[in-house]
This record gives sequence, C-alpha cells and structure tokens, in this order.
Amino acid sequence: MSATLRSLKRVGDAIEFTWDDDLCVSLQPATLRRACPCAECISELTGAAILDPASVADDLTLLDMQPVGHYAYRMLFSDQHDSGIFRLEYLRKIGSTSQP
Ligand SMILES: [Zn+2]
Repeated sequence: MSATLRSLKRVGDAIEFTWDDDLCVSLQPATLRRACPCAECISELTGAAILDPASVADDLTLLDMQPVGHYAYRMLFSDQHDSGIFRLEYLRKIGSTSQP
C-alpha cells in the first residue's frame, strides 16, 4: 500500500503523522525506536528482531528527524541511535498496527 504523508508535527514528545486519507496517528519516540528497521536492530538475513524492546526506555525522546529523499526519514533518538531509515510505508504500518 502506498502512503502519502500530508503533515507531520511534534505534540509534546510524540510525533503526529497525518496521512492523505485523513488517518492521524500519534507515535511515541520509544515506539518508533523499538520498530527501528536498521541492520543493528533487525537481522537483514532473517528479519528477526535483534533489539530487545525492553532495553528501550519509555521516556526516550526524538532529537532529530531528517527527510531522506521523498520516501523516508532518518531519526536520531536520545540514545544516540540514528541508523534507522524509516520509509513512509513503514511508518504508516507502525502507526496503523499500534492503534487500539
Ligand atoms: Zn536501529
């Protein structure tokens, strides 16, 4: 599924993503950090999680967010981890699966 991000804003520590179909999802930095798709956090070979979600503090914050082309964002978290490139489709997936 393709996803177009309409807007993005910080609400407190959380990041609020609004998609072009009006879905609006607020994600905590710790949720994003636990879903980090980089090779240090998820095995490229097997797709299995390497990162222990319990090792991520709930009060982790997002220090910076840089667009990568038009399709992704690189996130810098307060644990200094910045190797995750979050594609828009992936951000959308995290958001829709973390909804109650
Ligand atoms: Zn990572």
